[in-house]
Order: sequence, then structure tokens, then C-alpha cells
Amino acid sequence: MFEEKSARTELSSIGEFGLINHISKSVKLTNATTVKGIGDDAAVISESGNETNTVVTTDMLVEGVHFDLSYVPLKHLGYKAVAVNVSDVCAMNAEAKQITVSVALSNRFSIEAVEELYSGILLACERYGVDLVGGDTTSSLSGLIISITAVGITNKADVVYRSGAREKNLICVTGDLGAAYMGLQILEREKTIFKDNPNVQPDLAGNDYILERQLKPEARIEVIKKLKEFGIKPTAMIDVSDGLASEILHICTQSNVGCELYEDKLPIDLMTNERAHEFKLDPTTCALNGGEDYELLFTIDIADFEKIKNYADVTVIGHITEVGKGMLLVTRSGTVHEITAQGWDALLKK
Ligand code: ADP
Ligand code: MG
Repeated sequence: MFEEKSARTELSSIGEFGLINHISKSVKLTNATTVKGIGDDAAVISESGNETNTVVTTDMLVEGVHFDLSYVPLKHLGYKAVAVNVSDVCAMNAEAKQITVSVALSNRFSIEAVEELYSGILLACERYGVDLVGGDTTSSLSGLIISITAVGITNKADVVYRSGAREKNLICVTGDLGAAYMGLQILEREKTIFKDNPNVQPDLAGNDYILERQLKPEARIEVIKKLKEFGIKPTAMIDVSDGLASEILHICTQSNVGCELYEDKLPIDLMTNERAHEFKLDPTTCALNGGEDYELLFTIDIADFEKIKNYADVTVIGHITEVGKGMLLVTRSGTVHEITAQGWDALLKK
């Protein structure tokens, strides 16, 4: 019998961003109200005659891929699932107002477990001032899946895309980087020790900050408010979910510019630095590629520097260059490296 073999291309051959690009090629936008579709932290929808735009974003967390319930408390997981969506709304310079929550549960989960999860979700709703307005509930054959959609609002003139960075703009980042990744290393280490010897209690002492950064990240809603207060509209913005390197590449590619980052300017917390050395990891690599920081990476006009220079929560880490210069990291010793993204890729990571 003749059997026609159709071509098969593995997802891992193009990775997550390759796949999103591939999907987006067949998508056509037909509504005048769709201002921005695939390709930014959130989609932008305009209401004709309104002063404001609506932004919409969605993020899915899958057990065994994004979280491990052997060390992630359900309450924290619920909180984080909301925070990561609110963070994407912030990255558009918008304010989150509503979320919907969809869960798929296997019969391993009890009503009490679901209550724990929702206690975290509702705590985050309170913290970020968002209303839970709906969702979907279904069963799953393997563990827990949470998908949250967040809806936000912003004045039409205030929306910030990944594509607006211009030559000579300053590159800024909030908070510090690499801590969530180091928190994950600690949790994974204690899990391995526990597996080998269940009598050994986990030793998490002295790691509060980095564990909190991993287990209970916060969306930087107050930064968005502060920037408005200072009269600054970033030229481009993205939140740091996959790692600084991956995010600055998104800004540069979409803005058609290059960049120069300075290693000695990268904000790395002391504990992150110490633990990285203990794990024989380079703190700069953790900051560049660790991910899950949920800080905001943005570019500003150099004229706005005066307004921001005393804002302790923001660090200037480099500047935007012309496209031909490439995307570069100047190390402490003065050598120059091409920045490549080795951060989180859901389809490549084993
Ligand atoms: P973020 O890290 O900010 O959440 P992602 O990398 O997940 O952003 O997504 C980048 C862009 O691709 C977003 O605009 C998102 O809505 C879009 N996107 C991701 N997956 C899909 C998909 N399966 N179908 C259509 N659009 C997608
Ligand atoms: Mg994002």
C-alpha cells in the first residue's frame, strides 16, 4: 500500500518565539478597533470615541513546566499567576482592572486545595486593585493548569510598545535581576536533597529574599504611577519574564535599533551575588538569562534623565545605538560581547 509521508517539523526546531512568529504570519487583523495584535506584552484595543485604550494579555502556567507543587505553595502559585499578568499590563504603561481565571484540575486536587489557590489569587486581586470577573473550570488528566487573562486600561496617548526605542535613548530597569533564578536554584537543591534522604529537613534559612522573588513576585504597578508623576513616558517597555537578554533583544529587534549594556551597571542584589558564587554560577549570567524577575525594562529620552536620576528603584544600564552596531554587553574588564538570549523558552527547555 502506498503511504504518503507528510513533512513533519519538530516544534523544538523553531522554539517558542519562532512558533509565535509562524502563527502570527497567518493572522489577519480586520477590525479597526484592533490597534495592536500579536507581538507585544498585551494586545491594544481602542474604543472609538473614547479617550482610553483597553489592553488584554494572557498567560498560562502548567504544572511540571512552570511550577513544581512539591515546593510551591498553592497560595503563592495563585498570587504569582495574577502578578505575571498584571506585570504584562504594566509593560504597556496601563493599569490592570479585571482578570478572568481558568483552571484545569486533576482529581488529585481537593476543594481545600482549590481554596488555597484562590486565596492567593484573591490576595493579588486586592493588592493590584483588580476584579475577578470570570473564567472557566475543567478537568485535567495530568495536574494543574492555570490560565489568567488580564484586562487593563490606559489613556490612548500613554500606551508604550516594545517598538519605540530610539538611538541615544537610555535603557533603564527597575529593582534587581537574577534573584528569582537563584531562589529557584535553592528550591531545586533542597528538593534533590529531600528526594535522596526524606529525613533531611529543607534548609531554606538565610534565603528569604531570593525565595520570595521566586515564589511571590510582584508586578511593578507603583513604577507606572511614579513615571506618570515624573512626567515620563518611556519610549519602549517590556517586562522581564524570560531574562534581561531576551527582553532587550525584543526591544531592539522591534525598534530596529542596537544597544550597549554595561555589566557593572546591572542591578544584582547582594544575596543573589553570594548564592550565585556558591552555586558556581556567574551572577551576570543569572541577571541576563535567569528570568522571572517581573521587573520593567524600558527606554527613555535622554532629556528625561534628570527626572528619574534620584528614583532609587530604577537603574540606567545602558543606551540604545544605531541598528548596525548590534546588541552588545560591555563587560567589567572592557571587552565587548554580543548579547544572545538563552533565557526561558517553553519549547526548548527540557
Ligand atoms: P510575554 O512574555 O510578555 O507574556 P509572550 O512571549 O508570551 O509574551 O508572547 C509574545 C506575543 O505573542 C504576545 O503578543 C502574545 O499574545 C502572543 N502569543 C503567544 N502565544 C500565542 C499563540 N499561541 N497564539 C497567538 N498569539 C500568541
Ligand atoms: Mg511580558
